[in-house]
Amino acid sequence: MTPVRQCDVLVVGGGPAGSTLAAMLARAGLEVVLLEREAFPRYHIGESLVPEVLDVLEESGALPAVEAAGFLPKAGGVFRWGAHPEPWSFRFDEAKDRYHRHYAYQVVRSTFDALLLDHARACGAEILHGFAAREFFEVGPAGGAGLAGGRVLASAHDGEPREFAARLVADCSGQAGWLASKLRLRKYDPFLRNVALFGYFRGAARLPGRDANSILCEAMDLGWLWNIPLHDGTNSVGLITQAGACPAAGERTRFYESAIQKSVYVRDLLSPAARTTELRCIADYSYRPSRLVGPGFLLVGDAGNFIDPIWSTGVFLATTGARLAARAIGEALRTGDHRALLEYETAIRRLVGRYRQFIYFFYRTNAAPANYFWKAYSLVNGAVDPEDAFIRLVSGRLGV
Ligand SMILES: Cc1cc2nc3c(=O)[nH]c(=O)nc-3n(C[C@H](O)[C@H](O)[C@H](O)COP(=O)(O)OP(=O)(O)OC[C@H]3O[C@@H](n4cnc5c(N)ncnc54)[C@H](O)[C@@H]3O)c2cc1C
Repeated sequence: MTPVRQCDVLVVGGGPAGSTLAAMLARAGLEVVLLEREAFPRYHIGESLVPEVLDVLEESGALPAVEAAGFLPKAGGVFRWGAHPEPWSFRFDEAKDRYHRHYAYQVVRSTFDALLLDHARACGAEILHGFAAREFFEVGPAGGAGLAGGRVLASAHDGEPREFAARLVADCSGQAGWLASKLRLRKYDPFLRNVALFGYFRGAARLPGRDANSILCEAMDLGWLWNIPLHDGTNSVGLITQAGACPAAGERTRFYESAIQKSVYVRDLLSPAARTTELRCIADYSYRPSRLVGPGFLLVGDAGNFIDPIWSTGVFLATTGARLAARAIGEALRTGDHRALLEYETAIRRLVGRYRQFIYFFYRTNAAPANYFWKAYSLVNGAVDPEDAFIRLVSGRLGV
């Protein structure tokens, strides 16, 4: 058996949460080992970013590589949603805030995630691909005072078990929820129980003018559709439908295609296009954890919380979670006091809770855009007016 690998922080999972956390901790001088079960680049859904992601990546140092990758810049979004019969749009630069970056990107996640992980390696984190975390053991602090650490057993690509010992373990394993399922921490949202069916098209038309690279979301009787143009010439097109309405596997392609045919705006954009990939299906049930922090561990990104993809908040919450976790871990390891980790938990619960409230309202209220703006106004501190609050919310600009 190979000797136990000791480190300050063991990060499990190399998606945006894990790679951003590893980069930030390594830049702060901590010894970081990251286990990723897949070889990269690997496929992942979740292509549409919001502006705040770029600010977090500026802080982690990954932004120059992302800016140089050629991804499509995204000015905002277009929605056919609610009581308004025509599509309505918003632009990030309509915010009356102090931020200078009012755009985001539509990213091909295999490329984006690999860039972030390469950056974490360049910052000094040790990245081990083909390593899947299996078992977790809390290691109590000597004498009972101070921070507990963690021991992890992982299986490696060569079939050999490996052991790691860390002052803290950060679970960034995404929806797979390594620790959340092991410790039974995950609670599913009874309202947001949806299924996503998605594929990629080539040859689609673009929205006119400045909306050309924007995400289009179109509500319809079967659920809602997204259309995201990507820099490789493809479009990501997905249907979100209630779990109870989604047919059995053999019927899904017909269901997905009929949803596109029943739509107005997505169908129009796709009329010159052909689907070039198989259809993928993922249950995008939303969930939260009974706790985000425990003895020797914390959960970051989708490993802790997932809320509906309607506002493209997944990568934002994963990277912002990593930013907050990096600060908390640095403080906890420096002082030996776990209170910083509890503050991390409180901050994430507040942040995710605001988006959850907004998304509930958005799904449940067949309203005019102005009603959505007013709801945002009730959730965002310091906004100038309801429109400003809305743009800040959908940009991820909540001052966290
Ligand atoms: C239908 C749908 C559409 C979405 N659209 C968007 C969007 O447009 N914009 C957006 O921002 N977000 C979107 N999201 C959400 C987004 O994909 C996620 O929020 C984001 O990927 C979370 O990042 P993460 O790092 O927490 O997890 P992930 O990106 O899932 O990364 C987790 C990593 O952990 C690894 N792993 C898992 N288990 C283990 C283990 N035991 N050991 C080692 N490694 C392990 C996995 O291989 C993976 O690489 C969407 C989600 C869904 C379901």
